[in-house]
Amino acid sequence: MENLTDYKEIIDVIKEQGGDAFKRCFQCGLCDTVCPWNKVITFSMRKVVRDATFGMTDIEAEDIWRCTSCGKCPQRCPRDVQQIDSVVALRRVATEYMAFPPAVQPIRSIRSSLAAEGNPLNEKRENRAGWTEGLNVKTFEAGMEILYFPGCYPSYDPRLKKVARATVEILNKAGVTFGILGPEENCCGESIRKTGDEEMFVTLAKANIKTFIDHGVKKILVSSPHCYHTFKNEYPEFMVNFEIVHVAQYLFELISAGRLEIKKALARKITYHDPCYLGRHNGIYDEPREVLKKIPGLNLIEMEESREDALCCGGGAGRIWMEVPKEERFSDIRLQQAVDSGAEELVTACPYCITNFEDSRMTMEYNDVLKVKDITEVIQEAIQETEETDKDSV
Ligand code: SF4
Ligand code: SF4
Repeated sequence: MENLTDYKEIIDVIKEQGGDAFKRCFQCGLCDTVCPWNKVITFSMRKVVRDATFGMTDIEAEDIWRCTSCGKCPQRCPRDVQQIDSVVALRRVATEYMAFPPAVQPIRSIRSSLAAEGNPLNEKRENRAGWTEGLNVKTFEAGMEILYFPGCYPSYDPRLKKVARATVEILNKAGVTFGILGPEENCCGESIRKTGDEEMFVTLAKANIKTFIDHGVKKILVSSPHCYHTFKNEYPEFMVNFEIVHVAQYLFELISAGRLEIKKALARKITYHDPCYLGRHNGIYDEPREVLKKIPGLNLIEMEESREDALCCGGGAGRIWMEVPKEERFSDIRLQQAVDSGAEELVTACPYCITNFEDSRMTMEYNDVLKVKDITEVIQEAIQETEETDKDSV
């Protein structure tokens, strides 16, 4: 076991990254009562905080890697301990000493892929616009209304490419002038930063910022709440400010302005899952729900733990890349909550959530029980030129 007391500089790193906040903890344990980990194993953020305060963190253990940065415990902590910043600081220390427990080992290859190709999926940079095949999507140039930044998963992942393509269809229907960056787009860097790799985050952020400036970008539309969060709240650390809009917000804007018309009734029961980085981290709860409510016949129902209390899918803070045993997957619990609510479709607005939910849907054999969709896929259906009520109706 490595002990933090062996490394004097570690205390300074923790201080720089919120160590003083650690000291405010009075061990009330409220964080443990809300942490989703305690639904599947015994895990104590209170203990992580206490160990760090005394320089007793075991940097080779998995505990400091468990936090998904879901945002539940910071929202409840009476002492504003800023647990996420502190855990990231501890991960920076572990990264410095290359102390990765077995479940975290995949991060090494993720970092190599990000460095070589600008994405975590080991895909070629030159294929980044492959998802646009047959869609005639232009490269962004100054004067266009908006830059569409699909992000890594919608650019490469076969399931998520459908989300990027649905977004393009919606933008075209609404008459929005837009373009993409294709191979010039890099991963936003949000998740790799949360694994403690600040250097990689800075490299990716600087590359993206340079490209945005070179192309005259002012407004950026994103599919991922993680891109949204880092562009909006973290890129300003580099003294830049772009207007950032998540697609769930933009749909609301387009429909409200009369630019996008809902043409088809969808008579079905849908429940909406709040992604952590759209909801708790950025307070966007109402727009996606208002968008769904605009569809005639759609019955929007709330499942257990929604809005501020939403259960995390398990994919934040780099956990999407780590190995998680089946019995520890939050997404299985979330899927069951959706099914128990009586919903036929679980709709969300985040590529990580969809990846985890689709995986759970397959392993739980719920293919005929529940559909998993991005909000753009629902709107894509609802803007089709037909008066017929959907055939899958209840
Ligand atoms: S909720 Fe805050 S004060 Fe209470 S134990 Fe957790 S970190 Fe400490
Ligand atoms: S941010 Fe979420 S996952 Fe991380 S310790 Fe707090 S409640 Fe648990």
